[in-house]
Amino acid sequence: MRQNLHTHSTYCDGKDQPEEMIQTAIAEKFDILGFSGHGHCIYDDASMSQQGQTKYIDEIRRLQKQYADEIQIYLGIEQDILGRVPNPRDFDYIIGSAHFVEHEGQFMSVDYSEEMMCKILHEWFHDDFLEYAKTYYQNVRMMKDWDEVDIIGHLDLLTKYNEGNKYFDFENPKYVSIACDTIDALANKIFEVNTGAIARGYRTSPYPYKNLLAYMQEKNIRICLNSDCHDRTKLACNFQESLEMIRSVGYGSMVILTSDGFKDLSLEAFQ
Ligand SMILES: [Zn+2]
Ligand SMILES: [Zn+2]
Repeated sequence: MRQNLHTHSTYCDGKDQPEEMIQTAIAEKFDILGFSGHGHCIYDDASMSQQGQTKYIDEIRRLQKQYADEIQIYLGIEQDILGRVPNPRDFDYIIGSAHFVEHEGQFMSVDYSEEMMCKILHEWFHDDFLEYAKTYYQNVRMMKDWDEVDIIGHLDLLTKYNEGNKYFDFENPKYVSIACDTIDALANKIFEVNTGAIARGYRTSPYPYKNLLAYMQEKNIRICLNSDCHDRTKLACNFQESLEMIRSVGYGSMVILTSDGFKDLSLEAFQ
């Protein structure tokens, strides 16, 4: 089994057209490919326009039929917490993500650049990473009441630039407790192990950090493995290493998307 449910294309900030992505997935023996364009959001320049979103829906549905004999295609969307999708039933599944933090009515992106992250940390949180983390995770936690959200996207995106504990210690017990409270609040959702920042050279390990993944395993929280792909050459980026990590914290299964919804499948079936 090979699956990726977090795929971007030229409809938002990806490099390749959906059909090019599908052809790569088929060549790389993927069984399931789900598209998750950035849903329309006025704060996010990388997101689709309303018109673009309508075209995206039409094209993915068309490709889903066209390639049905070769690969299972699903239509998803990555919804930001600042831009809820008005018609969730248009989609087979929804990834819910927090890409921004708010301060006195202003918004800044947590993953746009290291410079912007430093600005958020310095100007809004006086270089106190824990205060930053509290605000960020409070936002993520809002999704507990959002029934349309199936998968929580890149849980600890705020740590994108923290390779080598550059800004704070991943093991800081106060930080870990804030993140784990959020995992508890969202325990009925699926979480993704997301290798996107590895593909782009920012990190050597996926989101979430290993200690948070181990906590999810203890709490029997369901997961899936996604590459948050913006470039078809990175469709299965770090999948082998991430599967190893998922196994090493004790997971025995992950979820796959089927025409009857999400199902658990033994880890042994995955490559
Ligand atoms: Zn995202
Ligand atoms: Zn994404």
